[in-house]
Amino acid sequence: MAEEAKAVVGELRASFKAGRTRPAEWRAAQLRAIVRMVEEREQDITDALHADLAKPSMESYLHEISLAKAACTFALKGLKNWMKPNKVPAGVTTFPSTAQIVSEPLGVVLVISAWNYPFLLSIDPVIGAIAAGNAVVLKPSEIAPATSAMFAKLLPEYVDNSCIKVVEGSVPETTALLEQKWDKIFYTGSGNVGRIVMAAAAKHLTPVALELGGKCPAIVDSNVDLHVAMKRLAVGKWGCNNGQACIAPDYVITTKSFAPELVDSLKRVLERFYGEDPLQSADLSRIVNSNHFHRLTNLVEDKEVAQKIVYGGQTDEKQLKIAPTVLLDVPLDTGLMTSEIFGPFLPIVTVDKIEDSIDFINSKTKPLAAYLFTKDKKLQDNFVSNVPAGGMLVNDVALHLANPHLPFGGVGDSGMGSYHGKFSFDCFSHKKAVLIRGFGGEAKARYPPYTTEKQKI
Ligand code: NAD
Repeated sequence: MAEEAKAVVGELRASFKAGRTRPAEWRAAQLRAIVRMVEEREQDITDALHADLAKPSMESYLHEISLAKAACTFALKGLKNWMKPNKVPAGVTTFPSTAQIVSEPLGVVLVISAWNYPFLLSIDPVIGAIAAGNAVVLKPSEIAPATSAMFAKLLPEYVDNSCIKVVEGSVPETTALLEQKWDKIFYTGSGNVGRIVMAAAAKHLTPVALELGGKCPAIVDSNVDLHVAMKRLAVGKWGCNNGQACIAPDYVITTKSFAPELVDSLKRVLERFYGEDPLQSADLSRIVNSNHFHRLTNLVEDKEVAQKIVYGGQTDEKQLKIAPTVLLDVPLDTGLMTSEIFGPFLPIVTVDKIEDSIDFINSKTKPLAAYLFTKDKKLQDNFVSNVPAGGMLVNDVALHLANPHLPFGGVGDSGMGSYHGKFSFDCFSHKKAVLIRGFGGEAKARYPPYTTEKQKI
C-alpha cells in the first residue's frame, strides 16, 4: 500500500516538475473536461448518489451536480485573471523597482473528501487545485462506495491521468497516502480525523485546509414571517440529505413564549413536504449506513430525550430511514446537545430573551455556519458582530455556500482555510512576493562602513 502511494505521488511529482500542469491551456482543458463529464455523465452521478444515500435526484442536481458545474465554469471564466501577477505599489525605500504578487502552484496536493456530498465535496476542491496549476490525488470517501467507484471509473476517462488521479480506499489506504510528502492536504470530514490529518501533515511541514463540522445553530426570533422561515429551515435541514450536511441547522434557539407557535408552524410545513408517513417519502435521503443509523437512534433512545419529541421519531432500520424529528427542550447535557447530530433530529432550545441566544452559541465551539431569522435590524447587527462562525446567513439556511464570491470554510473547531470561487484558487496557490529592481537609486547609507555622517542623512 505504501509502495503504491509512493508511486502515485512520484508519478505526479514528475509531471509537475516537467511543468505539465502550469500552462493556462492545460488548466482550462482539464476544467472543460470536468464540465463535459458532469454534462455527459449526469445520470451516472445521480445513480451513484442514489445508491449511496437514496438522495432524491432533485437534491443531487441542485446541491451537487449544478454546483460542481457552476464552480468549474466560474473557474474557467476567472482563470486568466486569477493567474495574472498582481501589481502592488513598490514604495520609495526600494526605488527604483516594481513589486508584484505571483500566484504559484503549490505542487502535488491531496484531496480527502467525505461521504455526505460525495460528488461535490470531491470535485470542488479538485477544481481549485487544477485551476491553481497543481497535480492532484483525490481520495473519495469509502462510506459512499458507489460515488467513489464512479470517480475511479469516470475521472480517468476525461482528465489528464499523468497529473490527476483517484485513489480509492479507507483508513489503511488514506494512512499510506498521508505518509507521503504533499504540498497541501485538503481534508473534509470530522474533527477527529482532521487531527490525524494535521499530525501527519506536520511531519512534512505540509499546509492543510480542514473543512470540518460542528453544531450549526439557527436562532428564530418572533419578529419573522414564520411560515417562510420554517419552510427555509426545514429545507435546509431535511432537504439537505436528511440532516446529514455540515451546514444543516443542528439545533434551533427561540424564546420560551414563541416556541409553541414555531413548533406548530414547523409541523405543518413538514407534513406538506413529506406527507403523513415520511418514511415512505422519496424526497428524503436515507441514513448513509447502519453504523450511522445506530449512532443516531442511540441519541434519542434515552427516555429523558425520547419524551421531548414533539414531531416525528419514526425509524425503519431495514430501509435505514429516520423521519424528520423535532424535540423541544432536551436536557443540554445529553448527546443530542453535546455532539454534532448530523442527521434528522432537530432539538429546539428555549431562552427567556432572544438576545440570550447569542451567549448560548458563544458558550460552545465556533460553528461552521450560524443562522438567524428575524426582521429586527438591531438583532441582525448584533448577530453579525458578535457571533464568531465560519459563515453566517440571515433569514435563510445553507445558501451562502452557493455564492462563489464568498469564502466557504470553518474557524476554530469547525476548520481552517476556505475555498469556493477564487478562494479555491488561492487555497491551492502560494502568493509569491516578487520585487524587481533596476541598478539606479543607490543610497550610500545602506553600505558599510556605517559612519555617523551617514546616519545623519
Ligand atoms: P468520512 O467518514 O467519510 O471521513 C472523511 C474522510 O476521512 C474519508 O475520506 C475517510 O476515508 C477518511 N478517514 C476516516 N478515518 C480516517 C483515519 N483514521 N485516518 C485517515 N483518514 C481517515 O466522513 P465523516 O468524518 O463522517 O464526515 C462527517 C463530518 O464531516 C461531519 O463532522 C461534518 O460536519 C463534516 N463535514 C464538513 C464539511 C465541510 O465542508 N466543512 C462537509 C461535509 C462534512
